[in-house]
Parts: sequence; structure tokens; C-alpha cells
Amino acid sequence: MAVVLNGKKIAAEITQEIKQEVAKLDRPPKLAVLLVGEDQASQRYVDYKRGACREVGIGFQVVRLPAGVNAIKVKEELCRLNQQVDVDGLILQLPLPVLAGEDSPTPILRFTRLISSHKDVDGLNQISTALLSSEIFLPATAQAVMRLIRETKVSLEGKKAVVVGRSQMVGKPVAQLLLLENATVTVCHSKTKDLAAETKQADILVAAAGVPGLISDRHVKEGAVVIDVGFNWIKNKITGDVCFQEVKDKASWITPVPGGVGPLTVAYLLKNVLQTAK
Ligand code: NAD
Repeated sequence: MAVVLNGKKIAAEITQEIKQEVAKLDRPPKLAVLLVGEDQASQRYVDYKRGACREVGIGFQVVRLPAGVNAIKVKEELCRLNQQVDVDGLILQLPLPVLAGEDSPTPILRFTRLISSHKDVDGLNQISTALLSSEIFLPATAQAVMRLIRETKVSLEGKKAVVVGRSQMVGKPVAQLLLLENATVTVCHSKTKDLAAETKQADILVAAAGVPGLISDRHVKEGAVVIDVGFNWIKNKITGDVCFQEVKDKASWITPVPGGVGPLTVAYLLKNVLQTAK
């Protein structure tokens, strides 16, 4: 039976430290979020971020654009916020809706590259990605995943790690950080032929597909460390990518949803904002 990793508890400790650091600054740092459209989950994430900022004394500004806007308007607003001197950290809330005049979702780097690297607290733009190995604004979720793995005290060196998901925000940076810790890393995605065959080899399995219940006990090796990044809303209830009840009997360590990666992601985002302000 797996030990359940308590992300909420670790996040509370980190948040406390941030609060003390913020209080020492000449002015409170400020995080700005650009939110496009009406996606319910995105609005909830923005509310979490607002609440978390308030808790530690970080200022918060949300700018909303309606779903029908075009890419030029999004870029203009992003550039305006980027130039705003009192904004330390800037986030474009994802996912973006399909914008006016486009047939499919616009690649996010077209927008996020407009955010200065010193304000890019989501660690999404190309410069930040290139600097991943120098640990400059690592994406908060990737930091959260690595912190939870560290909590297990399981050494990553030479271990087989499988990441399910290859997004710019989660899958890719997590895979890079696992590589930096000398794990042997496989990245799976929606076109992977036999997912279970890959995931069953994992000593460390990170699920970040955004598909509720994708990982069942048949996907998991006995004794694996299982980190569930998935955060999916089903009928007003949050669920992960991992079937927690089945997998907990097979894994050695597991994260719950909610209360695992999520609270730590918010804590590391605040840490990034504090770092920019400093
Ligand atoms: P995304 O949609 O950008 O990427 C999903 C990835 O999963 C893609 O690479 C896709 O190829 C892969 N995928 C989709 N279906 C698959 C399948 N059946 N088999 C294998 N791979 C599959 O999503 P994202 O932004 O990376 O987020 C992933 C999940 O993590 C979502 O549930 C999101 O809400 C959650 N998330 C949680 C936190 C947190 O703090 N807990 C932070 C960010 C994202």
C-alpha cells in the first residue's frame, strides 16, 4: 500500500517562507494574469492564484478579454502588461480558446515569447526553456513534481522514469528535470502506441495527460512512485489522471488529487514571483 504524499503540507511550509520574504521587500511584488475567454477551469485557476497571492502579500491583477478576440488583441494586451513597470510576474492563462480568424488553437509560444524572460514566471518562453538547466524560472508544476519525488528520498539516478504528456508547460520540463537527475526518461503522448507497455516499466511515473483515470493499476509497476499532475473537472469534482484507489495498492508512493501537485504548483509560482521582484 502506497504512502500518500501530502503536497498541501509541503506547500504550506513553502508559502510561510515566501510570506516572510515578501514582508522584507520595499514594495509588494505583483503578479498579472491575462485571461482570455470564459473557460470555467481557467477562471477557477485564476481565483486560486489570486487567493494564494493574497495569502502571502503578493499583489494580483487580472485582465480579461472576451472569447471572441483575435490574436492581435491578445498580443497587444500581453505587451502592455509586459511593459507595466509594477508588474513583476506575467502569466497568460492557458488554455487559450480558438481565437477570432483562426481555425485551430494558436501555438502558445507565439504569445508567451512576448513575455520578458524576467517576468515569465510560468517559465514558458523560449529563453526560459533554453535556460532550464540553469534553473531560471522553472515552470512551477515541474518544480512541484520534482519536490514531491524528492520527498520520497528515492534516488533517480539510473531509474526508469516515464512521463505521460509532452506539453511545454508540464511534460517537457518534467522530462528535462528528470534527465538532469540522471533518470532514463521516456515521454509518452497521445500518439504512443501501447501506453501500458511503456508505463509498466516506470520506477517513477508522472501522469500529465489531462485524461481522467487514464492510468489504472495495469499501467503501473509494483513499487513505482506515481505522481499525478492531472487536474480534471468532472461534474464539479476534481479528478486526476490516475485511478487512485486501484493504483495506491500497487505503488510505493502516490500523490492524491486534489492535495498533491496542485498546491505545490501554486507555492512554486509564488516563489517565482518573489524571485522576479527580488
Ligand atoms: P496539454 O493538453 O497541453 O497536454 C496534454 C498532453 O498529454 C499532450 O502532450 C498529449 O499528447 C498527452 N495525452 C493526451 N491524451 C493522452 C493519452 N490518452 N495517452 C497519452 N498521452 C496523452 O495539458 P497540460 O497543460 O500539460 O496539462 C495536463 C494535465 O495536468 C491537465 O489535467 C491539467 O489540468 C493538469 N495540470 C495540473 C497542474 C497542477 O498544478 N496540478 C498544473 C498544470 C496542468
